[in-house]
Amino acid sequence: DEGGHRVLRMLMFGKPGAGKGTLAGRLTKKYDILSISSGDLLRQHIAERTEVGRQAEAIVAQGGLLPDEVMLKVVTSKLEALKGKHWILDGFPRTLGQGELLDAHLKKQDMPLSLVVNLDVPDEVILSRISDRWVHLPSGRVYNMSYNRPKIDGLDDETGEPLNKRPDDNPETFARRLQQFYASTSPLLDYYSAQAEAGNMATLHGTTSDEIWPQLEAVVAGSFSGLRERTPRVG
Ligand code: ATP
Repeated sequence: DEGGHRVLRMLMFGKPGAGKGTLAGRLTKKYDILSISSGDLLRQHIAERTEVGRQAEAIVAQGGLLPDEVMLKVVTSKLEALKGKHWILDGFPRTLGQGELLDAHLKKQDMPLSLVVNLDVPDEVILSRISDRWVHLPSGRVYNMSYNRPKIDGLDDETGEPLNKRPDDNPETFARRLQQFYASTSPLLDYYSAQAEAGNMATLHGTTSDEIWPQLEAVVAGSFSGLRERTPRVG
């Protein structure tokens, strides 16, 4: 820990479409926090046609889960660069097996987790959002045509590059992803609650990211006083 302040090493849990990416994006935009999204990493592998990407394409399109060991490699190859920094993992781990693999990895690296956040959004709400969702693939920025539109339809606000629909954002695949959440990810939440200490696990309830954001910011900024706000660029 630097200067007595704790380092933020955070897991973000939530159903598909619960707003993990949106909220992680708000934290990294405002504070000196880095984030790694397993879904974004896989979509980049798929776009670049790597070996992992070729394996992932069909599984992701059908709303299935990649094998734990594959995911561990994809994510931990990025974790090395985050030593000593504040970071968020979004979308990994999402099975009990992945949780145990990650724990072992972090123990070896002497980087224990310091916060687990669970976004609790009702199923009906997220189902209706999925069809409205557009993403900027290179950055993972997420837009919603109902309540978080891009400045220009179809284009990313920051780069002006085109936005894409995710092939797995359709009602059929979404149902499978939600099933996977209940079957594989819920047990992992129980695993973390069982070993949680006071103040290092939080469940946030809400129907929109705007509703959840102040709660999330209070938990994060309230417990990690060493976080720095990014200075806005002038001119
Ligand atoms: P969000 O709506 O917040 O983006 P999501 O759960 O809908 O979350 P991603 O996290 O982007 O979507 O994941 C997309 C797909 O990538 C998953 O449906 C799954 O096929 C695959 N995937 C992502 N992370 C993992 C993981 N940790 N283990 C196995 N498969 C994964």
